[in-house]
Amino acid sequence: MNSDHLSSRLKTVAGYVKKNSRLADIGSDHAYLPIWLAKNNIINFGIAGEVVRGPYQNAKNEISKAGLNNTILPRLADGLAAIEASDHIDTITIAGMGGTLISQILDSGVDKLKNVQNLILQPNVGEKILREWLMHNGYKIVDEQILAEDRHTYEVIVAEPVNDKITYSDKELTFGPFLVNNPNEVFYQKWRSEKQQLENVLKQIETSKKPNIDKIDELNHQIKQINEVIGNES
Ligand code: SAM
Repeated sequence: MNSDHLSSRLKTVAGYVKKNSRLADIGSDHAYLPIWLAKNNIINFGIAGEVVRGPYQNAKNEISKAGLNNTILPRLADGLAAIEASDHIDTITIAGMGGTLISQILDSGVDKLKNVQNLILQPNVGEKILREWLMHNGYKIVDEQILAEDRHTYEVIVAEPVNDKITYSDKELTFGPFLVNNPNEVFYQKWRSEKQQLENVLKQIETSKKPNIDKIDELNHQIKQINEVIGNES
């Protein structure tokens, strides 16, 4: 991957950035995403935020190499602290981290979210935690994608702020309100594999000397919920 050829995962994220957006890419690493978006005339201003010095330096070098020093600003900062009011950021991308970390980043910087209209989030794991954060903080999920690349499954969650209270069911939080209604083969594969892992854990607990009944009930509930969504096939 480089700033001319994004991975399918980042291409999917990029696909949700609207033309003329003012973007903050948080956890930008090499800044491939904002550079690609600038080269393709989708953004005319971007921040590449990084908390670790090495990736920040990489981002800085790549931005210079692409001749985009006036368009994309690298900033060494923790989470949304990379955003300044004068940036007028309206779109945030956070990709390639766990859902818990993405939620923490959003939570610690809610004051920076006031004028943001578009959140494009790509959690590697912990999607449910992130959907819960969005629901509790007034964000409506407006689209989702699930894709497979290099033997990993990735979800992309797109959200917008709304004034009305948002409520998602436990099923929607777990599987995704859009994904559960439009399942593709990657979705089925992911949940078949999750189910297999839960069944393995269940077997281990059931055959242990002191089986934890609460844990068994919880695992049975999760397996039943997956069966309801993907059917009983194994
Ligand atoms: N976003 C890129 C992608 O999707 O390919 C890079 C993903 S990389 C796995 C995660 C990056 O997030 C790392 O470079 C890490 O240093 C950075 N990161 C982690 N926590 C962060 C935080 N609180 N603020 C800014 N960057 C963070």
